[in-house]
Amino acid sequence: MRRVYVIIAVMFFAVPARPGTFLISLFNEQSLSSIMVSAEKGRYILTADGNESGSYGHNDMLYIAIRGDSLMVRNQSGPIGVFSRVSFSETGEFSLFGIKPAEPAAERSLYYGNLEVRSEYGRLSVINKVDEHNYLGGVVEAEAGNGWSQMFYMVQAIISRTYLYGNISRHSDEGFHLCDAVHCQVYKGRLTGNETIYEAVSLTEGLVIVNDDNTLITAAFHSNCGGQTVNSEDAWVVYRSYLRSMTDPYCRGGRNASWHADIDAGEWQEYLAGLGFDAGEAGPGQQSFSLRQPVRQSFYTIGDVSIPLRVIRNDWNLRSAWFDVDVSNPSGMLRFSGRGHGHGVGLCQEGAMEMAARGYNFIDILQFYYNGVKVKQIEELF
Ligand SMILES: [Zn+2]
Ligand SMILES: [Zn+2]
Repeated sequence: MRRVYVIIAVMFFAVPARPGTFLISLFNEQSLSSIMVSAEKGRYILTADGNESGSYGHNDMLYIAIRGDSLMVRNQSGPIGVFSRVSFSETGEFSLFGIKPAEPAAERSLYYGNLEVRSEYGRLSVINKVDEHNYLGGVVEAEAGNGWSQMFYMVQAIISRTYLYGNISRHSDEGFHLCDAVHCQVYKGRLTGNETIYEAVSLTEGLVIVNDDNTLITAAFHSNCGGQTVNSEDAWVVYRSYLRSMTDPYCRGGRNASWHADIDAGEWQEYLAGLGFDAGEAGPGQQSFSLRQPVRQSFYTIGDVSIPLRVIRNDWNLRSAWFDVDVSNPSGMLRFSGRGHGHGVGLCQEGAMEMAARGYNFIDILQFYYNGVKVKQIEELF
């Protein structure tokens, strides 16, 4: 009797087990109507509507196109048929396949794992079934690029794993876990196959960042904070105890530490007028456009108008919301001199790279940028 209760309790209260593979929607923001699939390494089995229909090796190609609600599939030898669902599955380790979007055309990308294609709302639904290691390796390749230290990549791998598990249900009503675009985290499959990156994923196996109540954090990051990070509520309205503004002494020598932009004073006045600024009330000439931010501020105030600096950043496509406006140029151009690149919330990538170069480890770095967090094994949360 007691055993029955235990089983029922497990059925109702256990968190779902950690998935072995993840379903990532590829080219999620493009509406693809045809793709070329190629076996680059290893052999793949093509399955069409549940039936095996051939084996594909090096140099073999498959062409899949939308035809009404179905898929028209052919290979080099000719048509294979019209189906509602096809999959392309690896038969051994070290396999790699390519997808080249044909319509609209785009560059070929390489992926580990398996592929499943369906027709959905008049477009191709292209799903990569991939293990955590290769998914995270691809994300870190896309989000961090080449040329950095392994310790920095370990930091990025833990951030990406935290995002993966924290957002695992984000697309559940669409039948996959995450998309491959900025909406989730950028994933373009295997880019250069940088071994330092894939090793960093292995070296941090299972590690995620949690808040003091043991929930996965929103591990926001950006390129360079300019020397001071931003409170989450100042950038996005949402308060997070671990995303606090603080001084960052590590990023000031980074490539994205500063920037300049020149904006015509007349255009600037027109922009401000559109937001309710009355030039007649604000005093003489462009002198009133001046702004100084020795520390980060949230608003640009002129006359009766206060504009959030993050809105100005978006409207003018500026690299950051932390800038001064210099009005002394007689040519009528306003010089915007800014610090940092990105929203400034959470981890500063160029600061983290410098900390890693100075010998700090991934826990030091994560706890420096995320206030009061811990690094734990994901298994401890299930
Ligand atoms: Zn998404
Ligand atoms: Zn910084």
